[in-house]
Amino acid sequence: MKIICIGRNYAKHIEELNSAKPTEPVIFLKPDSAILPKKIPFFIPPFANSIHYEVEVLIKINKVGKYIDPQFSHKYYNEIGLGIDFTDREKQSELKIKGLPWEKAKAFDGSAVVGAFFPKENFNLEKLPFQLKINDTVVQDGNTAAMLWKIDELIAHVSQYFTLKKGDLIFTGTPAGVGKVSENDILTGILDGKQAFEIKIK
Ligand code: ZN
Repeated sequence: MKIICIGRNYAKHIEELNSAKPTEPVIFLKPDSAILPKKIPFFIPPFANSIHYEVEVLIKINKVGKYIDPQFSHKYYNEIGLGIDFTDREKQSELKIKGLPWEKAKAFDGSAVVGAFFPKENFNLEKLPFQLKINDTVVQDGNTAAMLWKIDELIAHVSQYFTLKKGDLIFTGTPAGVGKVSENDILTGILDGKQAFEIKIK
């Protein structure tokens, strides 16, 4: 399976990082080795000085698709989840300045937290609230209503480049409020009031 991530999909997050507003979705990939195994803490990698959390709504693809028309995107997923795109922000900034790929900053082992999935029928996908809490303080409070590109548009767009396969995941971008994690933090993800994950930082 593969993990396709969308960058810069929420205007307020683009502002907080002083990034340019894209004219088409920004895409990068994580390998399957990036997935943090269930019930394992996230260990801050020795090479990283500034690991940032980015809570994101996840889509789990349920069948093969290529050149998907946006009006049929909904047929390619049944489940919605929540996860974290852990990012070595210092490294990413350095790579951005040099115009180099982001993988060292975003695709390392453990950088993809994949929480619980829920049937999409449980939600209003146009207006789906989600939060990230660190030690009981809400640090990111997002809503899919603020996405620059909606879920069905993202599926259509990425399928122009990559054949989607059953089990592939799409990370749909993070809202504002990203920040650094510290040892012993507990990160809790909440999707429409339901807990989707709890991760300890080591
Ligand atoms: Zn992200």
